[in-house]
Amino acid sequence: MTAGSHSLVSMVWNDEYLNDRVGATATSHSPPTDAMEAEAKGMNFPDELSHLVRTDEPLGPLVWLGIGGPARFFAEPLDWDQFAQLYSFAVAEGMAVRVLGSGSNVLVREAGFDGLVLSMAAAPTSELRIDGNRLVAGAGAKLSNAVIKSVGAGLAGLEHLIGIPGTVGGGVIGNASAGGRDLGSAVAEISVLDSTGTRRSISQEDAGFGHRKTSLVGQIVCEVTFQLEPSDITALNKRMQKLWISRNSQRPSQHSRIAMPFVDPDGISADELIQNVGLAGIREGDVSLDSRQPNYLIAHEGATSEQCVRLIDRIREQVHLQTGVDLQLNLQIW
Ligand SMILES: Cc1cc2nc3c(=O)[nH]c(=O)nc-3n(C[C@H](O)[C@H](O)[C@H](O)COP(=O)(O)OP(=O)(O)OC[C@H]3O[C@@H](n4cnc5c(N)ncnc54)[C@H](O)[C@@H]3O)c2cc1C
Repeated sequence: MTAGSHSLVSMVWNDEYLNDRVGATATSHSPPTDAMEAEAKGMNFPDELSHLVRTDEPLGPLVWLGIGGPARFFAEPLDWDQFAQLYSFAVAEGMAVRVLGSGSNVLVREAGFDGLVLSMAAAPTSELRIDGNRLVAGAGAKLSNAVIKSVGAGLAGLEHLIGIPGTVGGGVIGNASAGGRDLGSAVAEISVLDSTGTRRSISQEDAGFGHRKTSLVGQIVCEVTFQLEPSDITALNKRMQKLWISRNSQRPSQHSRIAMPFVDPDGISADELIQNVGLAGIREGDVSLDSRQPNYLIAHEGATSEQCVRLIDRIREQVHLQTGVDLQLNLQIW
């Protein structure tokens, strides 16, 4: 292993570490809930699903910001059949449903989420496979692992996204981007589950990829096929390493409980805009913006979701007052 590849492995490990920590906390916190407990919460899951569902599952340990209340119902399905059954049942019962990837773009309110959260943490949803010039990725795979897999196979097209936290599914649904290039432009097709539990394939053209958005809302991303270009593996590897190092150096490295609240508006970065209106480093209770890269929100010891929401509102209001720009949220508030 070269020195460069060692540093890459340790950086992936950092992202993985957070998730391992998160996964471990989730399992150790809450023993599976029996059907009676779910019924007492007002939902009668069918016998074949009830063993999968836990109640009042704390979500704070499962998201990067580390705060927020519980999910009324929570499941970590082991295969797509279980996802389909749980999703269609919950929707038919009129229950709100959310999918949780790595939790790097979710802020959970103190009251928690009054519905069913389906976690992507189970291993069968995270396979990565090279097929000719294509990479086929399970939605639960880490985006950085997908990038490394493609680069390792000498396939270009994803390397600019190295270091963006989260899963392939989370990245595709929000069309993650960095340095002016998005994930959607490398997508060939996406396999999704709709709310009736039906699995179908959507082409890149029909996915509605726009600036940090898609038209896939309401569907669960299961698997994504990327169309990539054969390229020189050494040059590709070097490019990826450089991008990764530069991306990591721009993060508030001494904090792990961070999020990126805003989408860059057209023509200017959210960082620059917030700097220009003098709000870098601003604090609300135990939540602040980073002073160097103010589009990072930091949850300090004692932070609450309410404080995060108040800070976000203040920034949007001030930016709008001073510049006329209506900052759009990247962070999903549950
Ligand atoms: C330090 C840091 C740096 C970041 N840098 C960038 C950046 O450079 N560029 C960028 O675009 N973003 C960035 N982000 C935001 C975040 O990493 C991305 O939005 C990421 O793609 C979210 O993936 P996730 O798996 O963590 O999704 P989650 O946070 O778990 O979920 C985000 C949203 O996606 C939905 N979702 C997740 N998985 C699925 C699925 N399989 N099917 C359907 N819906 C799903 C969730 O319901 C939720 O609405 C950054 C965040 C942090 C904390």
